[in-house]
Amino acid sequence: MIEDESKADSHSQDSEHPPTRISSHRITALSLKRSASPSFEDQNSRKRFKDSEEPMDIQCKEDVGLESKLADDIAQELECGCCSELLYKPVMVSPCQHIFCGSCCLLWIRNGGTTCPACRAISKTASPSRPLQLVLDALLRNAPHKARTERERAQADEIYTSGSTMRFPSPREISPEPNVNISAEYARPCPHCSPNNVYGWSCPSPIPDPAIDLERAWRLDDGLPTGHAQCGNCETFLALRAPSTTRCDFCQTYFCGVGVPARCSAAPIPLQQPQGYTDVGDLIQSSDVYECFNSNTVEVEIMLDYITAQGLSPRHIYRDIVKHILEQPRQFRPLIELELFVVSHMGPSVDSDSSTSPHKICRSCACEILIWGLKDWWIRERKKGLLEDSIMNRQDCPEGSGCAMQSEFGLFNYGLLTLVFLLISLL
Ligand SMILES: [Zn+2]
Ligand SMILES: [Zn+2]
Ligand SMILES: [Zn+2]
Ligand SMILES: [Zn+2]
Ligand SMILES: [Zn+2]
Ligand SMILES: [Zn+2]
Repeated sequence: MIEDESKADSHSQDSEHPPTRISSHRITALSLKRSASPSFEDQNSRKRFKDSEEPMDIQCKEDVGLESKLADDIAQELECGCCSELLYKPVMVSPCQHIFCGSCCLLWIRNGGTTCPACRAISKTASPSRPLQLVLDALLRNAPHKARTERERAQADEIYTSGSTMRFPSPREISPEPNVNISAEYARPCPHCSPNNVYGWSCPSPIPDPAIDLERAWRLDDGLPTGHAQCGNCETFLALRAPSTTRCDFCQTYFCGVGVPARCSAAPIPLQQPQGYTDVGDLIQSSDVYECFNSNTVEVEIMLDYITAQGLSPRHIYRDIVKHILEQPRQFRPLIELELFVVSHMGPSVDSDSSTSPHKICRSCACEILIWGLKDWWIRERKKGLLEDSIMNRQDCPEGSGCAMQSEFGLFNYGLLTLVFLLISLL
């Protein structure tokens, strides 16, 4: 194991620092990192790792790769400014033209929003956008896996179905002067508090609405209202026993499941999406990733190239890591002992019985696990033998992670050098 550790800390020994020889796969990571022009992604850049395909196959794979990259690009542009997921039944705010899911925008207005959720500009209306919907439809025809889950769509449909225009209340309509203090001092009812709510379940001990019954309103100074906690994502109150409420078994945070359904929830451990890591681009931009490799940028770039070439997503890696943890005799206990998960105080604390194993996890705890396990995942992945021999046969620096050269190997310098060599090789 110790030997393997040093392997992951290794860097090019046969080529001195800085490198004099560029392997073709480097180009992809470079163009990805700097969003260089697509022309960098030419034939040889696709010839990576064990490449035994015929030239025809390479061409085909490349087309598929470009198509999915285009789909990724478009999907990124069509992200909702509220939930950061692919738009669903999009609306466009006027006049700033920011775009959101209809349900996200309507919830924002219902929660007292009087401005655009993204730029906070005074806004009058948000209207359904037919051109956007057409682009979305085209995207989903070509990349159906990008669609929001059926559950998310159903939840959004409960909030906003019609293609109707919604109006932002003017700031004065929503918060008359005297109410400003009230909302800071008293708890607001949760979505389930009203007996006639749309969610089909109502609170046994509802929070009195301070706007209606100030006498019985719950003062925030008195702690959490009976039977309620705060959502770890949207921070509104939630009912502990509502069917939509979930709790992370690691940080004990509660989630409402209503505000932004995909984000306001703890999910079964293998199904969660690590917060902030949607695609390989997020790994490339994360300083945490470089940090957990002791800033060994060479090894990180080999890994990122590999992840790109294998079409792996951070979620996939997270799932691999979880699977590996579950195969260990003590499972998640070592991670809990490391105090990797910060226990929340936004809800009643739960006696953590060490004999029961955790089932649900929130997005931020999933992110902790991903970063914690990434380096060991890579060590295991290297053993699968999918890397080029030239990389596998490199010798470890005898100094391992203690080698001073590896942190001097700044990402920027390295990228620049690669670019220079690339230009030379093209001439
Ligand atoms: Zn949204
Ligand atoms: Zn805006
Ligand atoms: Zn309630
Ligand atoms: Zn929430
Ligand atoms: Zn958590
Ligand atoms: Zn060295």
